[in-house]
Amino acid sequence: MKQFDRLYINGNWVKPNSADVMEVVNPATESPCARVPKGNREDVNTAVAAARRAFNAWADTPAKKRAELMRAVADEMQRRVADLVEAHVISMGCPRHLVAELHLDASIAGMHYYADRAAQMDEVDEKGSVILCKEPVGVCALINPWNYPLHQLMGKVAPALAAGCTIVSKPATQTPLQDFILAEIFEAVHLPAGVFNLVSGSGSVIGPMLSGHPLVDMVSFTGSTAAGIKVAEAAAPTVKRVCQELGGKSPYIITKDADLEAAVRYGVEDVMLNTGQTCNALTRMFVPRTYYEKAVIIAKKVAEEHRVGDPNDTNASMGPMASAAQKQTVIDYIEKGIAEGARLVTGGVDMPVGMDKGAYVRPTIFADVTNDMVIAREEIFGPVLCMIVYDDIEEAIQMANDTVYGLASGVYAKDKTSALTIARKIRAGQCYIQGSYFNKEAPFGGFKQSGNGREWGDQAMHEYMETKAIIY
Ligand code: NAP
Ligand code: MG
Repeated sequence: MKQFDRLYINGNWVKPNSADVMEVVNPATESPCARVPKGNREDVNTAVAAARRAFNAWADTPAKKRAELMRAVADEMQRRVADLVEAHVISMGCPRHLVAELHLDASIAGMHYYADRAAQMDEVDEKGSVILCKEPVGVCALINPWNYPLHQLMGKVAPALAAGCTIVSKPATQTPLQDFILAEIFEAVHLPAGVFNLVSGSGSVIGPMLSGHPLVDMVSFTGSTAAGIKVAEAAAPTVKRVCQELGGKSPYIITKDADLEAAVRYGVEDVMLNTGQTCNALTRMFVPRTYYEKAVIIAKKVAEEHRVGDPNDTNASMGPMASAAQKQTVIDYIEKGIAEGARLVTGGVDMPVGMDKGAYVRPTIFADVTNDMVIAREEIFGPVLCMIVYDDIEEAIQMANDTVYGLASGVYAKDKTSALTIARKIRAGQCYIQGSYFNKEAPFGGFKQSGNGREWGDQAMHEYMETKAIIY
C-alpha cells in the first residue's frame, strides 16, 4: 500500500487540514493500493497563496535557468521510472510492459521539448512604435483525468513552467500517485518553493474552489465535458482563462480505394490503445458499403488478437479498465448498443475468458451502427468500436461532422493527397491521416464541445502567456 499523508505546498510536505483520506483501488485486484490526503478549502487556499507568492520571482527567473531546472526534472523522472511505472500499473491497470511506451516516454520528452521553448518568453517583437512582450499568465490550476495521468500532467506542467507560471495541481482521485512522485522530483531538483503545489482531493469539492479562486489566473482542465462546463462556470465570475480538453467521439473515414486491411487494422488498434481509454480514439469507423462485410471480418480478427490480462502478464495487450465504475459505464453502453439493434461482432458484456475478477472488458466491435444511435453519439471511453456504413464520401463527411464533439478525426485513403482533401473538411482539432499517431509537435485540442485551447506543440506555450503591448 502506497501512502502519502502530506500535501506538497510551498516546497514543503505539509500536514493536510483534515484527517480525511482517499483510497485508490487497484482495478485489477479490486484491493486498495494507495491512500492520499483528501484536501479541503484551507489546503486549496494555502496552496494558491504559495503559488501566488512564488509567481513574481519565478516569472523573473531567466528563461535559461527555468529550462535548466526542467531538464533536471526530466533526468530525475528518468531515474524514477520504476516508481512511475508502478503508479500506472496499480492505479489504472496499465499492462506493466506498456507503461513506458504509452505513458512515460512522451512525458519525459515533453519536459525537454518545453525546456527548449522557455527562451521564447524573452523574445520581444517591435513593429513601428509597438513593442510586443510575452508574460506568463500567472497562477495556474491544473486538473487532470485518470486515463493518461502523467502525460496529461506533463502537457500542462511543462509549458506552464517554461512560460514562468506557478502551479497548483489536482490529480484525479483514481490516479494521484504520479503527482506525488513528481512533487518529490521537484523537491529533489530544488525547484523554488511555491512554483509547484499539489493538493489531492475530490474533484467535485476542490475543483470548483480552484476554478473559482480569485488568486488563480488560469484553469487548465482535462476531463469530461460535463465537469469542464462546471469549471468554466466557476471560473467565469473572476474572468479566468480556461483551457478545456474534453471528450470526443472521433470519426475515422476509410475510403473505397484505401488499403482496407491496413486501414481497418489501424482503426481497431487505435480504439483498443490504453484499453480504450483515450480521448482522441477514432471510435466511429466509416466504411464504404462495397467493402463493409470484408472490413467487419478484418476488425473482428484484429480485436480477437488482443489479449486482455493481468497488468503483470507480459502477453497482455490490454489490462482492466481504470476503475470498476468505468467498467460499469462501458458495460452499460454495450448493453445499450445491443438494445439499439447494433450487431455485436465480437466482445460484449461477459468477462474475458479466464478472468474472474477485476474491471476487465472484452475488446468489442459493433457493426450496423447508425450515426444516430446512442453508442455513436456518446463517448463510451472503453474498448468499443462502432462501424458505420456509407455510400458516398460526402455522406461520410456529413456523418463524421454530425457530432457535438470535434477533438480528433482520421482518414485512410489511397494516398496522402486524397486523404488531405477529406481531412480539410472535418471539423476537429486533429486529423490523423494514413495511419499516423500522437505527435508532440502537433497542437492537441478540440473544436465544438471537445474544448477550448491547445496542448502540445508550440501552441501550448501560448495558453500560458499574456501578450503585453508597449506603445511609444
Ligand atoms: P471527469 O470526471 O471530468 O474528471 C476529470 C478531473 O476533473 C478529475 O480530476 C476530477 O476529479 C475533476 N473534477 C470532477 N468534477 C469536477 C468539477 N466540478 N470541477 C473541477 N474538477 C472536477 O472525467 P473522467 O470521467 O475522470 O475522465 C474521462 C474524461 O476525460 C473523458 O470524457 C475523456 O474524453 C476526457 N479526456 C479528455 C482529454 C483531452 O485531452 N481532451 C484527455 C483525457 C481525457 P475526481 O477524480 O476527484 O472526481
Ligand atoms: Mg469523474
